[in-house]
Amino acid sequence: MKQRVSGATLVGTSSATSDADWRELRAMAFAALDHAYAPYSRFRVGAAVRSRDGRIYSGCNVENASYPASMCAERVAIATAVADGARDFIALVIATNAAEPAPPCGLCRQVLAELGPRLEVVSCTSRSGESRWPIASLLPSPFTAHSLDRS
Ligand code: ZN
Repeated sequence: MKQRVSGATLVGTSSATSDADWRELRAMAFAALDHAYAPYSRFRVGAAVRSRDGRIYSGCNVENASYPASMCAERVAIATAVADGARDFIALVIATNAAEPAPPCGLCRQVLAELGPRLEVVSCTSRSGESRWPIASLLPSPFTAHSLDRS
């Protein structure tokens, strides 16, 4: 069953990510890709993330003439989800038109690792191919809340 919940798509209540969930994530990531604002790099990216409770949120990259102000699609999706109260992300799809599946950048890996320590990341392109990584393999030693412990 699929229903809209306050801006999110609820695709199920199971904590596991089914094949249907992955298909929905891919569809939403490519839909978001169409909205990417990337006039500088022309590297358009869409992303869709699923929380353990089954909500899916999407995002696209949003660039700026002040380059450091640009935001990656992955972090836009995560920020949208967090603003809606979602946490504990378990699945992420990144969509591009690149020749090969693109992994998330280092900054996004840090954010993804904090809010989805068991996240599975899939990257796909409109051309061909798909790559999958557990977040722990993309960022094996993340800086965490524990790293801030000063006691
Ligand atoms: Zn990034």
